[in-house]
Amino acid sequence: MDIATLKRELDGLKIEDNEKIVQQKSRDFYWYSPVLKRQLDHISGDLIVSPKNEVEVVRVLAACHRLGIPVTPRGTGTGNYGQAMPLSGGVVLSLAEMNEIVSIASGRVVAGPGAIIADIDRATRTHSGQELRLHPSTYNTASIGGFIAGGSGGVGSINFGGLRDFGNVLRLRVVTMEAGPRILDLTGEDLHKVTHAYGTNGIITEVEMPLTAAYDWIDVIVGFDTFMGAARYGNALACQDGLLTKLITPIAAPVPQDYFKRHQRFFRPGQSICLVMVAPHALDAFLAFTRREGGEVVFNAATEEDKKGLPPAFELAWNHTTLRALRVDPSITYLQSLYPFPNQLALVERMDAMFPGEVFSHLEFVRFDGNITCFGLPLVKFTTEERLDEIIRLHEENGCPIFNPHRYTLEEGGMKQTDEIQLAFKREADPQGLLNPGKMIAWEDSSYDYHSSKTFLFKGLQRAG
Ligand SMILES: Cc1cc2nc3c(=O)[nH]c(=O)nc-3n(C[C@H](O)[C@H](O)[C@H](O)COP(=O)(O)OP(=O)(O)OC[C@H]3O[C@@H](n4cnc5c(N)ncnc54)[C@H](O)[C@@H]3O)c2cc1C
Repeated sequence: MDIATLKRELDGLKIEDNEKIVQQKSRDFYWYSPVLKRQLDHISGDLIVSPKNEVEVVRVLAACHRLGIPVTPRGTGTGNYGQAMPLSGGVVLSLAEMNEIVSIASGRVVAGPGAIIADIDRATRTHSGQELRLHPSTYNTASIGGFIAGGSGGVGSINFGGLRDFGNVLRLRVVTMEAGPRILDLTGEDLHKVTHAYGTNGIITEVEMPLTAAYDWIDVIVGFDTFMGAARYGNALACQDGLLTKLITPIAAPVPQDYFKRHQRFFRPGQSICLVMVAPHALDAFLAFTRREGGEVVFNAATEEDKKGLPPAFELAWNHTTLRALRVDPSITYLQSLYPFPNQLALVERMDAMFPGEVFSHLEFVRFDGNITCFGLPLVKFTTEERLDEIIRLHEENGCPIFNPHRYTLEEGGMKQTDEIQLAFKREADPQGLLNPGKMIAWEDSSYDYHSSKTFLFKGLQRAG
């Protein structure tokens, strides 16, 4: 890899080649998984390049294409499957400085890929009382481009579904990895080519996202004697069409007591909880509904006097639940599961009972193709990789698909099948396979059997290791 020539060709651009900093910026939250930690700990790029605008992105891609140097895009590196880690070395392309909020109009915002999600919301709220429809729990740190390329959904998915659902991204401007990089404006069906593709088939240089009315969401925590009490309540609340909520998260005891350090004083021993974000105008009706359902309000941000130092409820939810647990007990890891509609509660009950003391239930209610159902992000007391695989197998045998967070490839972390649209676009937009190598199995090995129960091993990674 001719890094010296590349540096000369990129003269005038912001480049970082200090080994320590390069290694630090070659990492994300891969260490969430003991499996990825073992596999990816040694990974580092050769150079960090931080373009300030699209013209500079085109320059980097053209030079890297000419020299055959891999390019791995990076937002702020909060992905937790090693998505932004350069498995074949080369350039880590940091989009963080392309963070301009370009324009805001009724129902839409245009921004650079590096804009931090919370900064976009601050601007749209001030401009016209609007906010993004959904965001990851890394609201305060993640970039919008990284969310679109690496995330799937989050806070707000209870109303709007997932990131890849029609209408949740309006337009993406994408630069291809060719001798003469092309600049494409993708809309409608074409958006599926690059959303959640881990940056393997194009660099997003501008995003246009839909907006919805902004509220000063109120955090409420409702306590229950049993986890299934919290789960049934969460399901019933999600089905209340008149109550505007943004987050409904049942979590089993003893997770809140053991890991939510700042909120601990609100929970009784053995109490399971449901975290809720509710719109201010819906609060009275929500409290009436909660009373009727037998829930005990243990925390209400609207009336609580001592809120000093408390994180927002969404920073206890989605992948933040695992982060809080890991900070207390490094042996904790997690899974991502789906409990398909209409049997979600029966499946939750079965899986919750299956691994006492080893797996602790955590649900996120979402609207999925028009129906209310839930994803699971259960915490797992990690013992061995074999046992983790067995827990995954038992979920799948019982009808709960697992999106395996212990794999770095798109397919193994997703639906375990080739995404033909993304693959076809990669052939067109990155014919040399230089964008984020090793993350799309369909590109690396077209005959790979996703159901072989083996882990895909990227050949380049074996060489690096
Ligand atoms: C504590 C915690 C909580 C989380 N909660 C959620 C959650 O609620 N929902 C959720 O979906 N995810 C969640 N995640 C995962 C992650 O935070 C999100 O996916 C996040 O939006 C990633 O943004 P980022 O800027 O950090 O992207 P990065 O990690 O930097 O990149 C993510 C992927 O996108 C690619 N990429 C980045 N920028 C571009 C670009 N401009 N063009 C093309 N490709 C690009 C990268 O190569 C990488 O593959 C969580 C992670 C953590 C650690």
